Amino acid sequence: MKVLKFGGSSLADSNQFRKVKDIILSDSERKYIVVSAPGKGENNSHKVTDLLLMCYQLSSHGLNFKEVFEIVENIYKDIVDNLGLKIDIDKILEDIYREIQEGASKDFTASRGEYLNAILLSDFLGFNFVDAKDLIYFKDGKPNFDKIKEKVQDELKDKEYSVIPGFYGIDEFGNIKIFSRGGSDITGSIIADALNSDIYENWTDVSGFLVADPNIVENPRVIKYITYDELRELSYMGAHVLHEDSIFPVKRHGITINIRNTNKPNDDGTFIISNYDDNRRPDIITGIAGRPDFSVVTIKKAFMNSELGFLRKVMSVFETNDIKIDHIPSGIDSVSLVVESSELSGKISRVTEEIKIYTDSDSIEVEDKIALITVVGDGMINKKGTSAKIFTSLAENNLNIRMISQGSSELNIIIGVLQKDFKKAIRAIYYAFN
Ligand code: ASP
Repeated sequence: MKVLKFGGSSLADSNQFRKVKDIILSDSERKYIVVSAPGKGENNSHKVTDLLLMCYQLSSHGLNFKEVFEIVENIYKDIVDNLGLKIDIDKILEDIYREIQEGASKDFTASRGEYLNAILLSDFLGFNFVDAKDLIYFKDGKPNFDKIKEKVQDELKDKEYSVIPGFYGIDEFGNIKIFSRGGSDITGSIIADALNSDIYENWTDVSGFLVADPNIVENPRVIKYITYDELRELSYMGAHVLHEDSIFPVKRHGITINIRNTNKPNDDGTFIISNYDDNRRPDIITGIAGRPDFSVVTIKKAFMNSELGFLRKVMSVFETNDIKIDHIPSGIDSVSLVVESSELSGKISRVTEEIKIYTDSDSIEVEDKIALITVVGDGMINKKGTSAKIFTSLAENNLNIRMISQGSSELNIIIGVLQKDFKKAIRAIYYAFN
């Protein structure tokens, strides 16, 4: 059995609805469908969720929101008309308009995009509609997994083919509560977990994760298999397709996520798995991602390595100044602390002064405009020649490496380069392996 989630661009208009129907009906295992609100599409230049949030904003300030609400209405009415649905959409929209006017909460208002889309898709497919407020329970602001599992199994037991709105649920006081933006991914993942689905198909508008950013590398390869942990490393460096919190629920039971493209349904997409079995493990690296705007604080002191408590002192200066540390590559007599430049802003002189007083160090240097690049590949550090290949490619392109950090997890190597070399370095590494 498969749980599917369709993103906003997959359900932006009636054309997209038709594609989605074909996909779902082509496989009888595709039984539970989670939907986002209509996103940007050929005819809509705004996401419905953004429009609804604007309605809330206007209404909560006592301003007229009719004009904005009409844009939302037209999106749904177009879908109903073009698909020839018999549903009384005017009445449902009227009710929602009235509820917003009467002071509905921000979360309730924002959630109506998914609610309406699920009603329309269930009608179009001839599936059941099951409201997320009867399945997704929050407690203290977080999903209550035990209760959700019980409810999902109970409610969906006799409703084999169902459409469920993503993005929201209900809190312990009976109010509608939404996840953070992009949260339908989380709903899909929680339902896949609760039903112990064989696979969680996440349908979007790209054919999976790419090995590198297409704005930097022309036509990069699609990643066929990636582990949850590798994905976390790439997302941390800015590669985003899925909501970060959607990994946890499926990861704990090892359910595979398959990222698929609604506009190219024959593409295999990317499979996010818990572990490689040996057949699937790629010989080469899995992916490359990076981010600019890091700073490196390098502290030198002779015989630092034999001094007890040195690192603790340095770290406590960062902690008391509220600065988060990303990496700590170290040598025998020196240690570097890599942080996001924004964390240091306005604090550099105080921090360097405090480190100097506290550790009696010989020198402290701060270098900014550093970009970090992570090269991810499960087990690659053990594989002969991988790092040699990375560093040779950078040297051959005349790129200076400012810092290297090798996670003990053997999942990735992190390289710091000057910001001006960032894109060139990513290309150099990509082409060394592709
Ligand atoms: N519609 C919501 C948003 O725009 C949730 C989602 O698409 O997953 O963030």
